[in-house]
Amino acid sequence: MAASFKIKRLRTIYILYWFLLTYIIAALVWWFIALSQQNKMMTDYKLGELNTAEQGYQKQVNKINEEKRRKTGQYIGEGVTFFLLIVVGAVVVFRAVRRQFKQSQQQQNFMMAITHELKTPIAIAKLNLETLQKHKLPEEQQQQLISNTLQEAGRLNTLCNNLLLASKIESGDYEITTEKIDVGELVTESVNDFTMRFPKRNIDLNVSSGIYLTGDRLLLQMAVNNLIDNAIKYSGKEEKVEVSVKKENDEVRLLIKDEGKGIPDDEKNKVFIKFYRVGNLHTKEAKGTGLGLYLTKKIVEQHNGHILLADNEPRGSIFEVKL
Ligand code: ADP
Repeated sequence: MAASFKIKRLRTIYILYWFLLTYIIAALVWWFIALSQQNKMMTDYKLGELNTAEQGYQKQVNKINEEKRRKTGQYIGEGVTFFLLIVVGAVVVFRAVRRQFKQSQQQQNFMMAITHELKTPIAIAKLNLETLQKHKLPEEQQQQLISNTLQEAGRLNTLCNNLLLASKIESGDYEITTEKIDVGELVTESVNDFTMRFPKRNIDLNVSSGIYLTGDRLLLQMAVNNLIDNAIKYSGKEEKVEVSVKKENDEVRLLIKDEGKGIPDDEKNKVFIKFYRVGNLHTKEAKGTGLGLYLTKKIVEQHNGHILLADNEPRGSIFEVKL
């Protein structure tokens, strides 16, 4: 409700903005016309006051005309400067308002997504535990319910970690701890964790040993988890996910490939924006908040690395992290 009120208010600001801008430019044009007319009238008046028989008449006329030209030049110069200042100011204000407008919309989507994201795992876990408590189920079914509950708890945990970290990074409260990390080990741990949570998924791991880097273990783990989680989430159950780590020219390269529906070219940059999710609310079948890639990019950049996104062949996406 608050967000939609904000959007309405921003709409009013937009209308007010265009009205004011048009008024200011119209006032500027009017100011220029009025001054030019005044200038012309002054010149005509001065010329009318001159005595044609007087000595040096032509010289006086030239002087008055010269003054008129100088004044016209001055008005044009001032007018153009004002106009440019107004245009620059208008562009700056417009962009700021548009950014705020977009952020408001994304925040509204985020609030809806987060409510859903928090409620679903809790409801599922509660139902599963109640079923286990009430019924004496066969061992296999019990295990199925437990693994399902663990999966939901895992999702809740990732979500909370992402939210906490996002607010800490934003407020500058997060203190990076640096330690020597075995990248292969860290990625293997992540993949093992996902294999436990999604035993039916085919996650291919290809890691060279002895690749180390200095960084924050918790943050890097989170970045890797986010990328693998997305690869699984945005591809079909039968489709393979490939994770590989190698070292090339003193650079650690982490590749996460999936065979899902991929990301269109015009969305490739946008997916790293906070709260951004591809498609509209109705087409976003997979659960999510639009925080994962935003955080992943921040984490990679804090480690002086960069993240690239390309299309996989024949379909899907490749996320490459270079550190
Ligand atoms: P979330 O997954 O919570 O929505 P992310 O920031 O992780 O948020 O991702 C932003 C958006 O980018 C997702 O909503 C999804 O539309 C798109 N996306 C991310 N990873 C992939 C992927 N591997 N394949 C296809 N689309 C993806």
